[in-house]
Amino acid sequence: MGTDESTPSWCPSGDAHAPEAVVLGVRSGTDGQVAYLAEPVPAGDVLGAVPEGISPTRVLRFASHCVSDCINRSGTDCTLVDRVLALPTKGEARAVPRCHLRTQCQWWRQRGVDACHHCPAVSTTHYQDDELSELVADPSTTPEQLEAWIAAAS
Ligand code: SF4
Repeated sequence: MGTDESTPSWCPSGDAHAPEAVVLGVRSGTDGQVAYLAEPVPAGDVLGAVPEGISPTRVLRFASHCVSDCINRSGTDCTLVDRVLALPTKGEARAVPRCHLRTQCQWWRQRGVDACHHCPAVSTTHYQDDELSELVADPSTTPEQLEAWIAAAS
């Protein structure tokens, strides 16, 4: 299901500095998995508390509107979630997170519960740290290419 511009979907890997941005969750533990907030908190209320020199996305996850000029948009769909879902989940099957975004979430609308199983591990910052992360972040990468890369590396 795509985005209806009259009722904008929200991106769960959003832009912290968008005017409507809210905090989706807090990164926790050594693996940076997200602990979701029960209620949205305006990003503007917390950005000032992030220490200078630390990217806000290193410690927090933000949600903002899914916008038509995003590099990950293809028509009304988000291609990022398709690449994220090509990645293996870590460890045991995780419960579906309790997140406040679900009724408006673009990834949920497109891929349902599968998106939620992968969502806590998504890290905007980590995507810049290694080759696999760069591939996931690259809109020209197909899920098939990701699966082939993972198979070759394992
Ligand atoms: S993918 Fe699922 S867990 Fe992640 S923000 Fe959307 S509804 Fe919430």
